[in-house]
Amino acid sequence: MKIHTRREFLKTTALAAASVSLAGSFASRARAAGTDRKIGFALAGLGNLSTRQLAPALQKTKYCRLTGIVTGHPAKAEQWKAQYQIPDRNIYNYDNMEQMADNPDIDVVYVVTPNALHAEHSIKAAKAGKHVLCEKPMEVSAEKCRQIIDACQQAGRQLAIGYRLHFEPNNLECIRLAREKVFGDVKIIEAGFGFPIGDPTQWRLKRDLAGGGPLMDVGIYALQATRYLTGEEPVQVSALTTVTDPVKFREVEESIVWQAKFPGGAIAFCSATYGAQGLAQFTAHAQKGWFKLDPAFNYGGIRGLRSDKQEIHLPAIDQFAAEMDDFAQCILNHEPTRVPGEEGLRDVKIMMAIYEAARTGKTVNLA
Ligand code: NAD
Repeated sequence: MKIHTRREFLKTTALAAASVSLAGSFASRARAAGTDRKIGFALAGLGNLSTRQLAPALQKTKYCRLTGIVTGHPAKAEQWKAQYQIPDRNIYNYDNMEQMADNPDIDVVYVVTPNALHAEHSIKAAKAGKHVLCEKPMEVSAEKCRQIIDACQQAGRQLAIGYRLHFEPNNLECIRLAREKVFGDVKIIEAGFGFPIGDPTQWRLKRDLAGGGPLMDVGIYALQATRYLTGEEPVQVSALTTVTDPVKFREVEESIVWQAKFPGGAIAFCSATYGAQGLAQFTAHAQKGWFKLDPAFNYGGIRGLRSDKQEIHLPAIDQFAAEMDDFAQCILNHEPTRVPGEEGLRDVKIMMAIYEAARTGKTVNLA
């Protein structure tokens, strides 16, 4: 099958995703809080992710409900209003979203706009007194990430980043294998994610809006894997980028490979591309064996293998429903999220160092 767009690519691997939510595992926490209240979510940015994943996932959550939208397109607002019974008073645009301050139906704004608009929209939401769930990558610079963190802190509101794989059972199992040293110390990690990008006019190919190419968009999953498997931060990175279609990739890289060294001794080699199919995996090589997921990063169908021939194939969940239910539970129980703004900031800092390494041809040390 030929796959031309990101959506088609992800869809092909999402079919196996069952509509089971991880919410069940958080039920005891909700009962402990003694509340049946559902957290009201407003989606800001009604593009592909909101339309195809988040709105359907919200219908499967236990602790959330879709109560509002933020969109620049009145026609889309009408469509969503009808489909999800959203009252007029809960429909905002990017210029008036601060008026949400007076709206008790909305507890969380889920920011799902292009990367370089995350700070603007997250800060507006925080100033309106809303908790913020911000999509990855958190922003296009460390400074803008810090601005989001500061705004949420000043508003006394929680901030989480949309790292759905922190809730995905097969990825969690691999974290266990690595951290419990089931195959000994992990020495080498290989990780990569990519897809052939379609429409040459889309924002993902514009530096101002995307902040970079496949590294920012999907390479971040490979970077995350190296960090959550080791439980460490890289101390050194080196990198190379390439462009084979200079018209399409005028502003961002087409493909990138990078290497990272971790303080405990593990080394990672990683890749991200907008030019090739079938790359969505990680393999961790340890002293006494290995384990891998392939695919590792998609919406569904995640599975893998261990060197002792055991399969890694835990039941699929709706990762977005799990991510949103967890954030709702954190809010209801005043508990910290496992995917805070600081986690998003760390990735952005490392990605900037990877770009610097690619640009200069030199290894970059990370503090
Ligand atoms: P998209 O292009 O389909 O949607 C973006 C939305 O932002 C559109 O509704 C668009 O109208 C709106 N928008 C507002 N201002 C805009 C502007 N100035 N220019 C362009 N669009 C503008 O993108 P998407 O695929 O839904 O991605 C949105 C965000 O979600 C990105 O940050 C992306 O990295 C992230 N994302 C995360 C995942 C995941 O698995 N967690 C998957 C896909 C996308």
